Amino acid sequence: MQSIGDDVGVVGVREPDTRALQPLWDFMRGHGDLLASPLAPGLSALLVHLFLCAPFLVLDALGCVCSRIRLHKISENTVPRVLRQWSESFGRILVNYALVVIPFTAVLQYLRRPKLPVLAPTFWQLCAGVVLCVFVFDMLFYTWHYAMHRSRWLYHHVHQTHHKHHRVPIALAAQDASAMELLSLLLLALGSSWLLGCHPLTETTFHLLNSWLAVEDHCGYNLPWGLHRLMPWLGAGAPHHQLHHRHQKGNYAPYFTHWDRLWGTDIA
Ligand SMILES: [Zn+2]
Ligand SMILES: [Zn+2]
Repeated sequence: MQSIGDDVGVVGVREPDTRALQPLWDFMRGHGDLLASPLAPGLSALLVHLFLCAPFLVLDALGCVCSRIRLHKISENTVPRVLRQWSESFGRILVNYALVVIPFTAVLQYLRRPKLPVLAPTFWQLCAGVVLCVFVFDMLFYTWHYAMHRSRWLYHHVHQTHHKHHRVPIALAAQDASAMELLSLLLLALGSSWLLGCHPLTETTFHLLNSWLAVEDHCGYNLPWGLHRLMPWLGAGAPHHQLHHRHQKGNYAPYFTHWDRLWGTDIA
């Protein structure tokens, strides 16, 4: 059976009509040493997260002086003690990445030695792969998150740090968790794409989208392009996840609502 990431046709024979992503993939393969570098996964995850959070730091800071911005906040228009909250989260994230995430992913990358196929996936292969990865990750996250709340030991030793942000969410909180939890979520994300046998370009796109969706879940703003606005019948989004932080239970799935509705763990 052919996996999502498999190249269609004879290896090495290009199909220009269906390979719109080939120039991008050729460019990335040209920097293969960088892509395969042991430090690449951990460092890029940290930099992407900080880059995606930066606009919300500006919004939160402006919200201290502009009431119109506060109108879009989910958390009762409370003005967070912005600088302190951001700097505490930033410090914890840096320490976790420096001491645990970057070293661990470097070893994983060294052992894995990712292969870079000649052909890029087609556009539709990439889209299908990314969507499937998000759904698989959502299911795995739901199960793991539920377990961390059901087990007192897991909650106190793994998940409690993330629940420091129970009233006023900030975007950085998406990765403000214990080192154990950060590692577990990273493995769930990697496992989602490995299970589906994704092409490295599909995998990279999924990790970028996954980082954005996690930031959006915690940003504290009801964004018009949030999943819950684009897919109101299925998307969870920031308000859904903020309720989880406020009540410390329920709404365990990060991006969609079907698992919470199916197992009766949804709260509104
Ligand atoms: Zn959260
Ligand atoms: Zn939780």
